[in-house]
Amino acid sequence: MSDKYKIDSHKLIFHPERVSQWLEAKDDWEKEKKVYPIYVEVSPYGGCNHRCTFCGVDYMGYQNIKLDTAIFKERLTEMGQLGIKSIMYAGEGEPLLHKDLPEIVEHTKKSGIDVSITTNFIPVNTKGIETYLTYSSWIKVSVNAGTASTYATIHQTKETDFDLLLKNLSMAVEIRKSKRLNCTLGAQSLLLPENHHEMFLLAKTMKEIGLDYIVIKPYSQHLFSVTKQYEGLTYSGMLELEKELQTLNDENFNVVFRSETMKKVEEKVPYSKCYSTPFFWGYISTDGNFYGCSCYLAQDKFCYGNINETPFKNIWESDKRKANLDFIKNELDISQCRTNCRMDSINRYLWDLKHPNAHVNFI
Ligand code: SF4
Repeated sequence: MSDKYKIDSHKLIFHPERVSQWLEAKDDWEKEKKVYPIYVEVSPYGGCNHRCTFCGVDYMGYQNIKLDTAIFKERLTEMGQLGIKSIMYAGEGEPLLHKDLPEIVEHTKKSGIDVSITTNFIPVNTKGIETYLTYSSWIKVSVNAGTASTYATIHQTKETDFDLLLKNLSMAVEIRKSKRLNCTLGAQSLLLPENHHEMFLLAKTMKEIGLDYIVIKPYSQHLFSVTKQYEGLTYSGMLELEKELQTLNDENFNVVFRSETMKKVEEKVPYSKCYSTPFFWGYISTDGNFYGCSCYLAQDKFCYGNINETPFKNIWESDKRKANLDFIKNELDISQCRTNCRMDSINRYLWDLKHPNAHVNFI
């Protein structure tokens, strides 16, 4: 099985109660406002030690700002009580640059929320790694090349960072083993013209270090990003890579080559409304603003309030969220949204639920 964590599809099918709460709300705002998100992405730190050529959030400016630890911990406790089930720490900058992230991660888990981290894994030490491994379900490391020189070109950093990354990953595997921890350790690379010839080498290196998987995924142009270097990139010529990469699969290591998502780059989406926003997910930016969709950061229409000023419940049940819901229902043209957005598979699933064909009773 090469995608046991369903990375190339979605996991909303495991939350039937939340989905039926949404279905039964039927345009009644008093019910809709109580449908809380399952997954929230959080940006602890605005700055970044790298400048990846493909970065989709370059337009946020890599500001050296951070979430206020004390206020955010209060919100985490509340979010756990309200039914948020998972948080991924990633965002506009490198999350590990927030010096309190170990404390935040521990508090998140103790608030009943599953934790994951997407990171370049450069600014980390032994103590931090141990805390992250103890309280996180998974850590996914962004590594977009198989050699130091290509890594330095794509991440726009020094070549020695590649060796440091391999050292940090080996240390993480070692700590996980010696402390008998269960955190899944994965890597992720975008498939780009500059790195496709190194994907096998990269996957083999990740396997030899002892990681559990590597995801190889397509680029998707962000709506507002400054970089347009890869706009229009298609994947039909790169799909044959999958066969070679799959020879690395065994019971301890999976290559998740996101061919389904790559094929979708050139397809027209089979739905015409977004049903995932503003219901099942959300995004907290480093300045504390809560957005209904991570593709519309810094867009006031998608911002429901600020966690530094307002409890989560008031943000989620606010008039601003209601106004955004009305906008998405009546005005948003999703053909203008980011191709293959984070909610694409979920939107397909929800669309089917709302528009069943005539044979669905023949299970
Ligand atoms: S980018 Fe995706 S999740 Fe966001 S509003 Fe558009 S369709 Fe919905």
